[in-house]
Amino acid sequence: MNLTDPVSSIPLVGPGYAFKLKKVEVETVKDLLYHIPTRYQDFSSISPISLLQPGEKVTIQGQIISIKNIFTRSRKQIQTAILSDGQDQIEITWFNQPYIVRAIPEGTYVSMSGTVSQYGRKKTLVAPQYEKIHDVTAKQQGSSEVLIASEAKHSRGTIHTGRLVPVYPETSGLSSKWLRSRISHVLPTVIDEIKDPIPENILKKHNLLPLKESIIKAHFPESLEDAQTAKRRLGFDELFGLQLKNLIRKKEWKEKKLAHPFTVDSHKTLGFINSLPFSLTDSQNKASGEILKDLGKVEAMNRLLEGDVGSGKTVVAALACFTAAINGFQSAIMAPTQILATQHFNTLSALLKPHNLKVALVTSESRLASQGLSLRSYDVVVGTHALVQKGVPFEKLGLVVIDEQHRFGVRQRALLSEQGTKGHAPHILTMTATPIPRTVALTAFGDLDLSTLDELPKGRVRIKTWVVPPQKRDSAYRWIKKQVKNTDQQAFIVCPLIEQSEKETMKSVKSAQVEFEKLQKNIFPDLKLGLLHGRIKGKEKEQIMAKMKKGEIDILVATPVVEVGIDVSNATIMMIEGAERFGLAQLHQLRGRVGRGDKQSYCLLFSDSRSPLVLRRLKSLERSLSGRELAEIDLEIRGPGEIYGTAQHGYPELKIASFNDFELIKIAHSAAEAVADKLVEYPGLDAIVNKADFIAPN
Ligand code: ADP
Ligand code: MG
Repeated sequence: MNLTDPVSSIPLVGPGYAFKLKKVEVETVKDLLYHIPTRYQDFSSISPISLLQPGEKVTIQGQIISIKNIFTRSRKQIQTAILSDGQDQIEITWFNQPYIVRAIPEGTYVSMSGTVSQYGRKKTLVAPQYEKIHDVTAKQQGSSEVLIASEAKHSRGTIHTGRLVPVYPETSGLSSKWLRSRISHVLPTVIDEIKDPIPENILKKHNLLPLKESIIKAHFPESLEDAQTAKRRLGFDELFGLQLKNLIRKKEWKEKKLAHPFTVDSHKTLGFINSLPFSLTDSQNKASGEILKDLGKVEAMNRLLEGDVGSGKTVVAALACFTAAINGFQSAIMAPTQILATQHFNTLSALLKPHNLKVALVTSESRLASQGLSLRSYDVVVGTHALVQKGVPFEKLGLVVIDEQHRFGVRQRALLSEQGTKGHAPHILTMTATPIPRTVALTAFGDLDLSTLDELPKGRVRIKTWVVPPQKRDSAYRWIKKQVKNTDQQAFIVCPLIEQSEKETMKSVKSAQVEFEKLQKNIFPDLKLGLLHGRIKGKEKEQIMAKMKKGEIDILVATPVVEVGIDVSNATIMMIEGAERFGLAQLHQLRGRVGRGDKQSYCLLFSDSRSPLVLRRLKSLERSLSGRELAEIDLEIRGPGEIYGTAQHGYPELKIASFNDFELIKIAHSAAEAVADKLVEYPGLDAIVNKADFIAPN
């Protein structure tokens, strides 16, 4: 068998199993070896029957003395067996697994793992894992049907019992037991084919286990320590591959994407900055400097500007557009929704018109064609992604700004950079309010240069945040009612996250509807409530937002996926239901919808959870107002692999390694940097780079 063979060439893997494996992206023998256990069950303690303790996790080995199938009165089937270890006997029970009677008939030597239970004075094992062994006395030589790979020579020769037993990420129809048996079957036949692509000196330097050994130990470790060192090595490969790929991309970008270098006229630049109604924050100044420096280069800029909602990214982008314009180039600004595009258009018009720049808004695909010709005379064109997909006829496009970059795919971003004029690429500035922990930035966005706005403009009033326990719900409602009634302030109520999905599901829409009706009828009968969810489209949605903005709605009930990214300066209360279901970064984003004006704003987090960990997590929102800090706390407390994991933050997920592992990420980074410039010397690395890919968010 070869590593590249399809899984269907493995005995007992028919089309059905091949199909199920494909669903978890396992198509070849090699993929199967890289299907790594998520945890291990410790059945390594093999105990004589006489010493069994109730509650203990053990393995017993011996011979089946008798085994039979019994029908209960309710016509269920029970299988009972007597197992002898040569000195004592124990009764074993299974439920509804009649095939066991044939699988391990009387006389068979077996190894069984499970938790000891006690009925009266009798100890038993209920539904243990089991496997045949050849002979109790033979077990030391490990002579069962299973793997004895050279490095695993201490293995007791069992795979389902009597050791640390691997538990795989299970999908329906692919049990860990089945995966173990198939992996243990192919592992010894192909393991010698595995070539370690990482150069010896790197392995040595960072104390990494050889690849072959790592794969064996990840599946069948002798100890948890074994498993850890194995996973560390495999995790390293993943991180190294991703980072190397980024470095290569970055290098290619620098070599291939030639742009028009802009002249930065410091006099005019200062003129623009002085014309603003406020002075820039330190981090706005720093980011602007980094961007202007990029714009002056012959290599196209490829920079990510990261900053919390309200940190003032737009004005930084405006300065870049201004610079392009005084160099005679057009800028395109792309926003993910119509609402945001319109908002940008208004802001940029206000900022740029005083300098005699012309700003256009391209609102819908249908109007593109008719607007096409006249667009040539605009300095800045704002629109949704239709802007670039449909190929707006720019005369001299020099700069592309993309807001909320995670909403656009890699392909859309690539498309953009091809929009330049006369063989020149436009400079690209992407912006995001998604806080990116440092480890994620290094791994996932390493091909971009990064600028961060890590402070809010002065004079903002700190948003007060409270985690509200169930018993205070009524008084919280009363408080909201009083706030909204006595002042002209408004509130958002965000419904809980029902399903993890970018698109709104019917389930979430219904629950928002129910919540809206309940609130309007029972809680706030004398207030005006509005409802907004993802199934409400276009005109109607804009009307609702416009009403909210004009103050005709007191409380807007919304689903989590709905874009409320519009400035409503009178909105001072953000109430979030089922807060525990959100990531901290997401809660922080939602919170950013209030506190836009100069009034004291509030964020109320409702949760029925009593888990101390959940409460600790939510409480961190009371303390911190920094998106990045919260994202890092979240990563630390929940870990990225949780159900409501990193996907909802909008950044990709890792398969084996973890964004929590700062040390390994740094090691992988320095290793990738060490080889990036001399790839020809290490042809084996191609495979790693080609394989490098994240699990896409949603
Ligand atoms: P972001 O896009 O980063 O969420 P915006 O660019 O929309 O933030 O800015 C939020 C608000 O802050 C806007 O009303 C903007 O005019 C204002 N603003 C931006 N920079 C400053 C500053 N340095 N001082 C005071 N207000 C600012
Ligand atoms: Mg913005």
